[in-house]
Amino acid sequence: MVMESLDAFRQRARDWLAGNLPRLPADAQPWNGMRVGTDEARRAKELQALLFEAGFAGLCFPKEYGGQGLAPEYQRAFGEEAQSYEMPLLFNTPTFTIIAPTILDLGTEAQKRRHLPAMIRGEELWVQFMSEPSGGSDLAGAITSAKFDGDNYLLNGSKIWSSYAAFSDYAICLARTDWDAVKHQGLTMFIVKIHQPGVEVNQIRQSDGGAEFCQEFFDDVPIPLENVLGKVNDGWTSAQRLLFHERSASGGASPYAVGVSGRRRDTVEDLVRLARARERSDDSHVRDLIAEIHVLQTVQAQTIERVTKGIASQGLPPTSGAVPRLFGSLNGVRRSDVTFEIAGTESIAWERADSPSTVGNDYIFRQAWSLGGGSVEMQRNIISERVLGMPREAAADRGIPFKEVRRNAPSK
Ligand SMILES: Cc1cc2nc3c(=O)[nH]c(=O)nc-3n(C[C@H](O)[C@H](O)[C@H](O)COP(=O)(O)OP(=O)(O)OC[C@H]3O[C@@H](n4cnc5c(N)ncnc54)[C@H](O)[C@@H]3O)c2cc1C
Repeated sequence: MVMESLDAFRQRARDWLAGNLPRLPADAQPWNGMRVGTDEARRAKELQALLFEAGFAGLCFPKEYGGQGLAPEYQRAFGEEAQSYEMPLLFNTPTFTIIAPTILDLGTEAQKRRHLPAMIRGEELWVQFMSEPSGGSDLAGAITSAKFDGDNYLLNGSKIWSSYAAFSDYAICLARTDWDAVKHQGLTMFIVKIHQPGVEVNQIRQSDGGAEFCQEFFDDVPIPLENVLGKVNDGWTSAQRLLFHERSASGGASPYAVGVSGRRRDTVEDLVRLARARERSDDSHVRDLIAEIHVLQTVQAQTIERVTKGIASQGLPPTSGAVPRLFGSLNGVRRSDVTFEIAGTESIAWERADSPSTVGNDYIFRQAWSLGGGSVEMQRNIISERVLGMPREAAADRGIPFKEVRRNAPSK
């Protein structure tokens, strides 16, 4: 069969989008993944189903798992055409860009056939059960436990900060399956159905009114053997794979995203518009700030490209993904600061009749970009130890059975 040319594909996508999806209003707020609820999840599933029926879903996924088997440039072209339309962006992270590629890499044939087409059809939203109340940075220190009872693994413990869990369907969950093994060797990665007896999902109310973060409690939740992702007690390898995809996704390099954000959340044009609206575009300090962001974004884009190509050609180790991840985090924080400064007092106070400014909320939330997907300190650790080969930091839990590691949280 002759492959459709990129131009023909682009035109077909443009025509279909114009006839089938709602356009975003000109003043639509940039998507930032926050303030998401049940209605947004339902809408994202509807939109994803529409894309699937039209043959525009899962563009870079293999055909045998419900995708279109196309090259990344087709996905990029579709993303460009779709920018001004309502898109199911909730599926991007973690469902399509982190979890789906991890299942592609590590899943059994049955797991791939069961879940990937369901994601692409818009039926399954997924989340990550990684962080625990005892700490998220020390992922290998997980104390949520799964014990085999002869038929199933029984999951007990708690996970936290799981984005969107209350209105999602499945999770990838890292749990301890061997307490006699050393820290990194007694873990197993599981596929967990979220809404089932024994799983309690509590939404965490945030200061901005949102509640997309959740904490889950597990009480003897049965997980069938067939839901092990990767190998039993080799969950650290599975987690590494997942983190690799997470770093690639947050660096903007995933070919599996369903378009870019409806409106890019980080354009310099947005800052220029803001400066004009505040009548500050002639202010030389404001112009300097906008130029600084322009430079940072240019360097970020080139860093992503350089590192992505380096990893692909094996010139750089996969852990180098921490470099654009770190740069992106620092850049995101700086951009929030600059936006806040340009917006001035209107970002914290507004007239009753006006719609509230999002700049203030974004500013309060900005530190999240230094935590989600692994904190900047952990990215620096990865770069120093596993990219530059510097000595590893001291650890009191290395080389001893995990059950002997001192901790302040109870274990089962
Ligand atoms: C927007 C967002 C979305 C998220 N989504 C999810 C999700 O879907 N699923 C999920 O499981 N988690 C999620 N998280 C949680 C996130 O992964 C954790 O916040 C992160 O890993 C840090 O863990 P912690 O908050 O428990 O902080 P801790 O691990 O307690 O760390 C506290 C501080 O100490 C520093 N620190 C810790 N250890 C070291 C060290 N060895 N060297 C130097 N500094 C160190 C950290 O950098 C941090 O600044 C999300 C977080 C955010 C902000």
